[in-house]
Amino acid sequence: MSYFKNFIAGEWRPSVEERWFKDVNPADTRDVLGFFPDSSEEDVGEAVDAAREAFNGWAATPPSERGRILLRAALFLEEQVEELVKLLSREEGKTLAESRIEVLRTVEIFKFFAGAGHRLKGETIPSMRRGVFIYTCREPLGVVGVITPWNFPIAIPAWKITPALVCGNTVVFKPSSLTPMIAQKMVEALERAGLPKGVLNLVHGGAEVGRSLVASRLDAISFTGSHEVGSEIYKRLAETGRMIRYQMEMGGKNPFVVMADADLDRAVTLAAKSAFGLTGQACTAASRILVEEEAFDVFLRKFVDAASKIRVGNPLKGEVDMGPAASEQQLEKDLKYVEIGKQEGAKLVCGGEKLMGGDYDYGYFMAPTVFTDVTKDMRIAQEEIFGPVACVMQFKGLDEAIELANSVEYGLCAGICTSSLAKALEFASRVEAGVVKINDMTVGIELQVPFGGFKKSSSMTFKEQGDAALEFYTKLKSVYVIP
Ligand code: NAD
Repeated sequence: MSYFKNFIAGEWRPSVEERWFKDVNPADTRDVLGFFPDSSEEDVGEAVDAAREAFNGWAATPPSERGRILLRAALFLEEQVEELVKLLSREEGKTLAESRIEVLRTVEIFKFFAGAGHRLKGETIPSMRRGVFIYTCREPLGVVGVITPWNFPIAIPAWKITPALVCGNTVVFKPSSLTPMIAQKMVEALERAGLPKGVLNLVHGGAEVGRSLVASRLDAISFTGSHEVGSEIYKRLAETGRMIRYQMEMGGKNPFVVMADADLDRAVTLAAKSAFGLTGQACTAASRILVEEEAFDVFLRKFVDAASKIRVGNPLKGEVDMGPAASEQQLEKDLKYVEIGKQEGAKLVCGGEKLMGGDYDYGYFMAPTVFTDVTKDMRIAQEEIFGPVACVMQFKGLDEAIELANSVEYGLCAGICTSSLAKALEFASRVEAGVVKINDMTVGIELQVPFGGFKKSSSMTFKEQGDAALEFYTKLKSVYVIP
């Protein structure tokens, strides 16, 4: 059995206390990928010290040179696409097609931010006085803590770490303890590409390691995960009394609106992909399908038919459309919400059960699940489940659709399917969400476009991805020059 290590100050090291946690395949728990260090506060301290020591040298390296290292790493990752796709499916449970999209996107993220080395621009601003020259320039923040979830376990670390590095920051990275191996592959590519020691440090572990990192001497923290953990981090940062820069992207309860004028077959396909793609485990997944009353019955029949045809299984064994829940805990949560929905009086029209028999007995499989007769204040319509559970709800007219869409505390992503451009644009302007998709799936975002939620889905401090990401990872200095 393989034992893996942390990466600190350019060396692969076991954790100081030599404790380990197990990495298992959620589609087949007999398949153990390896053991990873359950790190301690001391390991985190060493990683932060190494990052601090490396900072001055890295910050002084020309941005284009930093970018060249990212480009080399992108090419190493590109060489390993097939291996990484299989590893990602084995470790997280997504289908091979879904893993391929994530891995290829990761390569593109590396290339995009490699090029950003040439785009770290300031500006010149005319002075109000004669003979004075004013310019602004961007400087790195220092040591950045990066804490990531399991559901996009290579793309999310990539979209945080590559802009952090190209801007001249050093990083301490704590991936999810459910997906340590794919995270490690990304770090290995950067090591192989020649990243100087200490510039990127990897510390494995769970919540306690995350807590230690938040409590350590960082200059910024970028977190993606649940609202519960994001709020805890927010409180802890406030308690330290140090006003460091932070960015938190969190959960969602995303609506997908179907107007009666939409092409219903297309709407069904988009809604099913939005609700059940990635096993419903995307922060942008649509868990509320809102349908205009004239189209409701026909839509529901077709949607339930589409949901029941989804082939659920082990992504590494044959053709499947949907993999397992990523962990036992996630499956239990999904099933718990099915019970909550039933108790609240919603009608379960499809799925709702743990799948059993044959290969299913070794993994965390659940059938795609559809509820109707859901009212907007029910917990299944308000709380993030993060599984393949869709609530199909009815509305009358666009105003009610928008009111329903906005009736939750989250605001990450919202979709609408309509043939009316006027209705689509009205929806886009009034819906409370950081991302709006018109006649498209709610899942799937492009890496060059700013990304982030509103309301409880985000700290709303800075956007991620695209050139907007460079703003989080740099501070702007204004320089007045009188020659
Ligand atoms: P999580 O909040 O449980 O964990 C996220 C990370 O935080 C993990 O690395 C975890 O080990 C660490 N952590 C846990 N407790 C901590 C603590 N007290 N202090 C510091 N770190 C701690 O989330 P998850 O289950 O890994 O991921 C699913 C969640 O992520 C969902 O809510 C989903 O919506 C959200 N998500 C959001 C986005 C987005 O961009 N908005 C993207 C993907 C996932």
